[in-house]
Amino acid sequence: MNEKRKHRKQKKHATMGEPYLVTRAVTHIRLVEVNPGKLAALDALAPVYLALCQQYITLFCTQERPNKVRDPLYATPLSERWHRVAILQAAGIAHSWRSNRAAAYQQYQDDLAQYRKRQEEGTVEASAKAPRWREWNIPTLREPCLQANINVVKLEVSRDSTYDYWLRISTLEKGRPIQVPVKLAQYHKEQLTDPKTGQTRKLNSSVQLNKRDGVWWLTLSYDEEVTVQTPPDAPVVGIDVGIANFVTTSTGKHYGTMHGKLKERHKRDRAKRRRKAKLRACLQKKGANKLPFTSSRTGQRLIRHVKQAINRAVNQCFAEPEHQGMQFAYEALSVASMHFKARSMNAYLKASNLGHIPQQIVWNSQKRGVQATPVIAAYSSQECSVCHYTDRKNRPDQRTFRCQVCGFEAHADTNGSLNISRRIGDTQLRACKDRTAIKAVLMQRHEAWKQQQGMGDIRPVKRRKRGTSSSSLTSL
Ligand SMILES: [Zn+2]
Repeated sequence: MNEKRKHRKQKKHATMGEPYLVTRAVTHIRLVEVNPGKLAALDALAPVYLALCQQYITLFCTQERPNKVRDPLYATPLSERWHRVAILQAAGIAHSWRSNRAAAYQQYQDDLAQYRKRQEEGTVEASAKAPRWREWNIPTLREPCLQANINVVKLEVSRDSTYDYWLRISTLEKGRPIQVPVKLAQYHKEQLTDPKTGQTRKLNSSVQLNKRDGVWWLTLSYDEEVTVQTPPDAPVVGIDVGIANFVTTSTGKHYGTMHGKLKERHKRDRAKRRRKAKLRACLQKKGANKLPFTSSRTGQRLIRHVKQAINRAVNQCFAEPEHQGMQFAYEALSVASMHFKARSMNAYLKASNLGHIPQQIVWNSQKRGVQATPVIAAYSSQECSVCHYTDRKNRPDQRTFRCQVCGFEAHADTNGSLNISRRIGDTQLRACKDRTAIKAVLMQRHEAWKQQQGMGDIRPVKRRKRGTSSSSLTSL
């Protein structure tokens, strides 16, 4: 994952025909236990590593800027090499936490400024609450994840045919590394074969080790050269991101959903966590010193499955035959700032991991050499894709878009994705300082549309008085 992220940054906007490197992961390689107890040394190392890494994460999130090459600060039984690896990994985690938090805080301040402005104007709705900032928790490592480099874990090609590689892993005991065999599945081997040359690809020296549900997993990676295939004037597919449909496109397609099975699982998990929290509070009152954790294994698994469902949805969208030769536009949305009024809905929103969707869009575009551009998302769900009339009232409910002026009606996400598809290269919107300025531009466009239609003085349809004006308008 982190490897991917690294390269996401490297390629900002490659132009057509320009090659760039993408790091691809080879995942789900199960570490085999040949001799019983062989992985015990790794099991012994993991909690020590995790605790040290956590110390640096806390340090880098609270007191110091993340520094990948910081001098060791804490005492540990780990070797200096492992210690450096822990610092490096902690710095990476803290860096992304800090930038996400900063973005969310900025969004909060923007929302607050807007709220105050509305207060002054006296246009605050009765139900609207002032935006509130809730401080973020520092990231906590729950499951062992070791992002190791060649200094601590060495990958060697196996000489005999039983195994494909050997991992030489440094342990807590100096000079006593363990040798763990690695056997690849057929699909791993296929992935690792370069179709152009038929040769096995050169693997990167850094590897990732994860322990999940009592099993150790290895992730390998390799670099692949990709060339941008999309001409700049290729037709645009707009992508709208949501819970009911993870991905909705301006071509009228939907991919993946949080509703259904995942929703049921989320509900069960939430109920379980609340029961545990209650029990915890009760025990605490009675002065018990050992308290049950409120985070659960099933919760961690649910997050993983939601992310997998998102990966599938985005992948299908990019693989769609109809979308070949097209480029993509997606919302540069700040999920951290999204919120509902109901607490249960907020928990559901959080569980849906929507922030993972833009990441997957970037990743898919990079590995396929397809252009994907983030665009300004403000008002994309309220703007009418026909006449640009922008109003909250255009959304009578979560699913429906119904324009108050021109009467255009569509699935709300489809209308949103149509707007998004047109916002590539919209320099006028990009120049706007805040949401108020964006809304003003959209309403100007609406005025221009009205002039064009020769309906200069027509006012928004009042839905309650269904009659004269609305029927004459929808017939236009
Ligand atoms: Zn309209």
